[in-house]
Amino acid sequence: MTETKSCPDCFESIDARALRCPRCAQRQPDAPGLFRDVPGRLVGGVCAALASHFNWDLTVMRVVLIVTAVMSGGVGLWAYLALWVMTPFERDGRAPAQQLIEWLGRLFAPPATSPTRE
Ligand SMILES: [Zn+2]
Repeated sequence: MTETKSCPDCFESIDARALRCPRCAQRQPDAPGLFRDVPGRLVGGVCAALASHFNWDLTVMRVVLIVTAVMSGGVGLWAYLALWVMTPFERDGRAPAQQLIEWLGRLFAPPATSPTRE
């Protein structure tokens, strides 16, 4: 017995875990944002994350990225790095950039719980 939910667009009863409606191909509102821990990831998982998020073909995505990186003379690589930094690894996880900001915040924050001696 699989749980079902109703697609908000075509009201078709679909699998509760479906991220996209199999009938009208509409992205479901409870689908997670971009994350890199998806099947088929090779290097940083950015291509796989984008392909999974936008329902693109992973191979086409990779070819487009590589061609863009070569044609742009390295700009594409920076774009890849920027996307990697801004994309959490886990579903509903925190992006590396966010983790770095939090780490820096702890590093420079005054110790809040230090005992004061008079
Ligand atoms: Zn639908």
